[in-house]
Amino acid sequence: MAAGNKSGTITRRGFLQRSQAMMAVLGAGSLVGSTEALAAPTKTTGTDYYSKLGVKTLINAAGTYTFLTAAVMPPQVRDAVYEAAKHPVYLKDLQVKAGEYLAKKLRCEGAVVTCGASSALTLAAAACVTAANNCKPEDIPQNIGSKNEVIVQHGHRYGYDHALELCGLKFVEVVTMEDYRKAFNEKTVMTNFFNAAEHGEIGHKDWLAIAHEHNVPCCIDAAADMPPIENLWKYTEMGFDLVCFSGGKGIRGPQNAGLLLGKKHYTDLAHANNNPVDGVARGMKVAKEQIVGMVAAIDWLLEQSNESMTKEFTRRAEAIGNIVKDVPTMQVTYFTPPAANQVPHVIMTFDPAALGITAKEAQQKLRELDMPIELNPATGSTRSSGGVPPHPNALVATTWMLNPGEDEIIGKQIKAILTKKKA
Ligand SMILES: *Cc1c(COP(=O)(O)O)cnc(C)c1O
Repeated sequence: MAAGNKSGTITRRGFLQRSQAMMAVLGAGSLVGSTEALAAPTKTTGTDYYSKLGVKTLINAAGTYTFLTAAVMPPQVRDAVYEAAKHPVYLKDLQVKAGEYLAKKLRCEGAVVTCGASSALTLAAAACVTAANNCKPEDIPQNIGSKNEVIVQHGHRYGYDHALELCGLKFVEVVTMEDYRKAFNEKTVMTNFFNAAEHGEIGHKDWLAIAHEHNVPCCIDAAADMPPIENLWKYTEMGFDLVCFSGGKGIRGPQNAGLLLGKKHYTDLAHANNNPVDGVARGMKVAKEQIVGMVAAIDWLLEQSNESMTKEFTRRAEAIGNIVKDVPTMQVTYFTPPAANQVPHVIMTFDPAALGITAKEAQQKLRELDMPIELNPATGSTRSSGGVPPHPNALVATTWMLNPGEDEIIGKQIKAILTKKKA
């Protein structure tokens, strides 16, 4: 089914078409109430390339996962991207002015719009390598000089280590405070802290204090850790020299944008290593549309409040919960993770033997719909995902990336799948 998507925008007509098709499937009542909450259509009326390419749009009840293209941009961000596409500018001028604007808004000394949080880590490393070795962008990673060590906690090693390795860095792992104190030497360039790590015994304050005793800069990866909104200045105010955020997760900017925030000495060095310079970030270009989209997303976000976002995400979670709660054996609970993805999730636990279907099977059936519904990967799983503990016998829905009306569709589809009579 071609979804109602026009160049990434959900039009009212498209939405009604798809929700009516869905209601026909479900034999359910009117959705008029929820369509009133629809955002005004944006100015663009371009070709629907998703439908032209035969790419299905989906309902994202999983969260800001990269493989699901993470967030959808709010209308005012999409409009800013559309306006930015009309005219060429001097790229450096835009990078610098966007950085200055964001630094002021986000209460830090300096800012760089990067090509995502992963690229923010690379530019942070490039800045620290440059500061320690006094090298040039073209020296990274092969000729940086003798200083090439980054200190991390063993429990903070992760897939994004690659982003630092790109700058020629080697990892020095520590577990205890004593290890940490001993790890500093003349080769130390920086430290990295994974904010949402589930392991690691050294806290933020001790981590910073000891590094700063040695005059070593500290970077923190807080990519997915907004909300709450104040986290955007919490870590720079705590004293971290460099702070990385994804632009396309909770901030709801373009997926290939991110933020590097911090002390001006280091963010200036990050700018110096950024494209169009032929260095490590040459292949991490952020186009003018995405730079502007990132700035517009911060403007949009700062007009929101933690309370209003929580209220709306909770309303959606409860809308789903209320539709499925009468399914036999169903127990509906709600959960908000403590660090990353700190938003309400609805956990729908049931007895697979009584209903004749497992959580994983139900998840797969939702994926096979004309309008696929993607649930949180903790669904039917023995592994946690995005801060949600494993739920082998539950469906887990995350509500912050839903478009208006999709909460109701999710609830009805889940109920239909779980109560379908076996042939
Ligand atoms: C998502 C994520 C990243 C990568 O973010 P991008 O913006 O996709 O580059 C890095 N670190 C953590 C902890 C993340 O959750």
